[in-house]
Amino acid sequence: MSHSVLKVPPSVIERMQSHYGPHMTSLSVQGAVFQAKPQGCTITAYRSGKVLFQGKNAEKEAERWAADTETPAAKKPASKKSIPSVYQPPEGIGSMSVIGSDEVGTGDYFGPITVACVYADKTKLPLLKELGVKDSKNLKDPQIVQIARDLIKTVPYSLLVLRNEKYNEMQEKGMSQGKMKALLHNQAIGNLLKKLDGTRPEAILIDQFAEPAVYFKHLAGKTAVKERTYFSTKAEGIHLSVAAASIIARYSFLTEMDKLSKQAGITLPKGAGPLVDEAGAKLIKKHGEGALRVFTKRHFANTQKAKRIASKR
Ligand code: MN
Repeated sequence: MSHSVLKVPPSVIERMQSHYGPHMTSLSVQGAVFQAKPQGCTITAYRSGKVLFQGKNAEKEAERWAADTETPAAKKPASKKSIPSVYQPPEGIGSMSVIGSDEVGTGDYFGPITVACVYADKTKLPLLKELGVKDSKNLKDPQIVQIARDLIKTVPYSLLVLRNEKYNEMQEKGMSQGKMKALLHNQAIGNLLKKLDGTRPEAILIDQFAEPAVYFKHLAGKTAVKERTYFSTKAEGIHLSVAAASIIARYSFLTEMDKLSKQAGITLPKGAGPLVDEAGAKLIKKHGEGALRVFTKRHFANTQKAKRIASKR
């Protein structure tokens, strides 16, 4: 059986957790932050930052994160560096007038997927900085709320919320989460461009969740802007518009989670870990299995675990 090991910083473990959300298993490994089983691979992430990939797709999965390792210099010979693609953000993009786009909630069992995009004109960049816009992973929830409330009064933006009833319906028809995300980002960008009414951004920057070719394949038959559209992982650090979009998306997600918790009469936790299984079981006990359709991304492994816990009580 093939295997790969990476050493990554905590922020990458967090992104992995979100990425593999639908494939989380019950946590039973000592010292592990999570274990996930996407197709053909078992991934175990340890608190030490070590991440173990096992199975026939081990190398393929590890590859996704290879650029985020703590020792990239040793791993990446210069000759193997990929040719810059047309989708790679251009030099100096950080000080341009840009639409940035990001999403939240994809790895969370409870709550919607929210996608936001923000147009940050270059003249507004110092103001955004002043408002405290930065990588939302370094911000606590109350700060997110505060900054988001300022932001929505300051910059043109658009926001889409995909609630789980609709999510489950699309998922059951066979649509992948990747395609849903592509459709949402594209629609959010389209809505914002309409709002801008002729103002043309110098670039559109999408926090990368899929290969650009895959992204555009998902959008076949749709109106999509391809020119000056760029993709990058960790795009929040490349342009403040993406950081701002991420903050608005997270703010919306938090608001929705509050509403859902009130509606359920249970505090619904974020993520897809053991606390989430417990809350899922409570939800079933209280409102029946039908409630999963409204509150959860039902195809996540949490559903089976929640049912199991509920049946034992
Ligand atoms: Mn993102």
